[in-house]
Amino acid sequence: MANIIKVQKGTKDILPQEISLWYKMEDNARKIFSNAGYGELRTPIFEATELFARGVGDTTDIVNKEMYTFEKSERSLTLRPENTAGVVRAFIENGMHRLSAPVKLWYKGPMFRYERPQAGRQRQFHQVGVEMFGIKDATADAEIIELAVSYLKSLGLNDLDVEINSLGCPNCRENFKKQLREVLKPYFNDLCEDCQTRYEKNPLRLLDCKVESCKSIFEKPEVKQVIQGDFICDECSEHFEQLKTYLDALNIKYSVNKLLVRGLDYYNRTVFEIKSNNLGSQNAVCGGGRYDSLVKNLGGEDTPAIGFAMGMERLYSLMEKSPDNKLDAFVVSTDKTEALKLVKYLRDNNKKTDFDFNGKKFTKQMEKASKVAKFAVILGEDEIANNTISVKNLETSEQITINRENLLNNI
Ligand code: ATP
Ligand code: MG
Repeated sequence: MANIIKVQKGTKDILPQEISLWYKMEDNARKIFSNAGYGELRTPIFEATELFARGVGDTTDIVNKEMYTFEKSERSLTLRPENTAGVVRAFIENGMHRLSAPVKLWYKGPMFRYERPQAGRQRQFHQVGVEMFGIKDATADAEIIELAVSYLKSLGLNDLDVEINSLGCPNCRENFKKQLREVLKPYFNDLCEDCQTRYEKNPLRLLDCKVESCKSIFEKPEVKQVIQGDFICDECSEHFEQLKTYLDALNIKYSVNKLLVRGLDYYNRTVFEIKSNNLGSQNAVCGGGRYDSLVKNLGGEDTPAIGFAMGMERLYSLMEKSPDNKLDAFVVSTDKTEALKLVKYLRDNNKKTDFDFNGKKFTKQMEKASKVAKFAVILGEDEIANNTISVKNLETSEQITINRENLLNNI
């Protein structure tokens, strides 16, 4: 026998019995985001590798370890590991800065990262996200966080924690980086290999480290003092305070987590994450933040921006699974031609309908109907002879015989 070819590690089939919740995630996104003025943008799955090197940042794990990169016609291409860089490229390329601000976009689709697969972590996974361009004011930050929370609620997810932080601007960050390097210097040899590299390149990203021995260093009193200290400048601090006021006004509960720095290089000021209490260690369902310099860094007009991305597999695993809806009708008839015609008629009238393709015995067909449908629509010899039809309600077992033209009113 031929070898069986299996699905690739870290990838999955989404099966028909799972798809209704995916439809729900997509439908709710379309509804809620377009209500708030966001238009859907669909960008290509692969882009120039340089877009991610510059747009995500070459000190990030994503760019250093996780990209699916390949060459074609001497061009280096990469399967998108996230979509903010692609959205920004499209924003610039399509001259969207000329539209009146804010420009609001949303997307959904597959992303690719070469990671160690585990629960809640795949190599091909899906994200749904939004990006807003052109507004510096903290009202934009509030709208984005509010939108994320509303969307999660619409999926029935409630047991969530919103964590926020402000990374300040490049100016105030320089000072913080210096302090951080200084206080961590004595512990340099105890840091993990990745953190030793980050120490020079981007010490802020140290705080994101998930290695226990590094985390314990951040708990040392003198290190903690630097992390917990207020390093951001007056303007950044005012922006952050404004955001908190707006979130309070919108009744959104949040906590400030000073260790929250997010994995991407381009963030400034507001960063946030939404975590679920019902997922294991991969508990972040949503990550987002402000990235005011990215559009300019990628060659566009200076345009402030903010957005978020959610992992759809993680949302899926939190959503309540209800058994798929039953058929409206199962046609029971030993005359296969009549059955085919009736099935078509019911489907044409928007009734979810099926029948027995093999024309099995009447009792077998009834058994099947009671398992899969709400109503059995019965076309036996008597019914065919009298031009009538019988309808059995499979929940109450009540059965009636009616004229054919009344069928639709009775199921
Ligand atoms: P994590 O810390 O879990 O690796 P991240 O900071 O890399 O997350 P982002 O790049 O901000 O994640 O992506 C936003 C969201 O996408 C995450 O909160 C998560 O829900 C989801 N996500 C990220 N990577 C994966 C993955 N490999 N598999 C499934 N979902 C993922
Ligand atoms: Mg990651």
